Amino acid sequence: MKTQIEYAREHIITPAMQDVAGQEGCRPEAVRDKVLAGRLVIPIGSRRRQRLVGIGQGLRTKVNASIGTSSDIADVDLEIAKAKMAESEGADTLMELSTGGDLDLVRRSVIEVTRLPVGTVPLYQAFAEAARRYRNPNKLDSEYLFEVIERQLQDGVSFMAIHCGINRFSIERLRKQGFRYGGLVSKGGTFMVSWMEYTNRENPLYEQFDRVCALLKRYDAVLSLGNGIRAGAIHDSHDRAQVAEMVINCELAELGREMGCQTMVEGPGHVPLDEIAGNIMLEKAMSGGSPYYVLGPLPADSGAGYDHLTAAIGAANSARYGADLICYITPAEHLALPGIDDVREGVRATRLAARIGDIAKYPQRRDAEKRVAMARRDGAWDEHLKSLLFPDAAAAIRASRMPGDEKTCTMCGDFCAMKRGMTLFAGDLSSAKQRHPDEAAQRAADDRLPER
Ligand code: SF4
Repeated sequence: MKTQIEYAREHIITPAMQDVAGQEGCRPEAVRDKVLAGRLVIPIGSRRRQRLVGIGQGLRTKVNASIGTSSDIADVDLEIAKAKMAESEGADTLMELSTGGDLDLVRRSVIEVTRLPVGTVPLYQAFAEAARRYRNPNKLDSEYLFEVIERQLQDGVSFMAIHCGINRFSIERLRKQGFRYGGLVSKGGTFMVSWMEYTNRENPLYEQFDRVCALLKRYDAVLSLGNGIRAGAIHDSHDRAQVAEMVINCELAELGREMGCQTMVEGPGHVPLDEIAGNIMLEKAMSGGSPYYVLGPLPADSGAGYDHLTAAIGAANSARYGADLICYITPAEHLALPGIDDVREGVRATRLAARIGDIAKYPQRRDAEKRVAMARRDGAWDEHLKSLLFPDAAAAIRASRMPGDEKTCTMCGDFCAMKRGMTLFAGDLSSAKQRHPDEAAQRAADDRLPER
């Protein structure tokens, strides 16, 4: 089986590229050329029922929902319900990150019920099972890492976060800088760092990176270079340890691409708002434009309980500056394993953040907002509600407090500014008249640009 990159090298436009171009309203040639350049990835994997999703430059910013059991709560049915909730709420990808219970069973059950591309962190399973078997995850036989990667790929996983970028060099940077306000916050990262310290060996996923790529290539799965030393506090943002791992991940993204493996880079954790643009710029510049899969970022440490909102603010900014896939954060972040309602709220907040980011990232693609605004202005409530990102939530609020005049709402009632304004100016404000009459022509011109 060839990968999308290998097909692109032969100038072939694959059905997956066609599909992505159709979804995004851009040219298949542009999708192919960006796959070739490593600026766009399409998780493929071995499943037939999987939806195709493009992640990368010029495309809509995508939203990932992460689910999975823990050692405290391991309920397969709950994870199935969470997977269904994430899909019905409009997540683009799903990560199954279980560490408790029968890990093969949970993963296979989740894959069975969703058409979303499913991603995993294979280190979780390898180390969690080593912990059970030997009562010490550090006793993991490194060969087992590769076995788990292959088993998960065979099950249909189409993208994997693998912590290849943690190595002796990046750990040394952490030691030498002598501080870390938020400590280490990546489960996969701490598993690997701990194993390296215990065995006094180099990270096998770094040492044998070509083997990792060969495995993922076999299934045309996307290698997402995991962010094991990410900042878990805004005061750690862009410390030398985090940046060292980022440099290595960007280097590996390029190496993987050269081997024909689709790659993206993960980052950055907790980052203050004023550093987000710089973080995205660094990733894009150092990786040659690899898709950037961001966790939030969280621009404050103090929002627990509402961290889906904290992260949405970071996510809107990261999408604006070029992040391509955003991992949701739920209200349970930092507090507990997410439940079903947390999944819904997390996906909704992140979809809204991605939309806000895209409005800034692609000024020529703001028509959906214009439709909402005009329906609102005209008191066309059915059209207004239908055009929203979350019509059910909006309709429920309106229905709970209906106005006397159905053109208005109970906020201003008789003094509805929209109604009054349109009574005054209805004859002057024509939907046919556009602020920028050449918008359509401009959009068509943009479509022809290779950057689109
Ligand atoms: S009543 Fe007030 S809030 Fe409601 S639609 Fe009219 S102007 Fe808007």
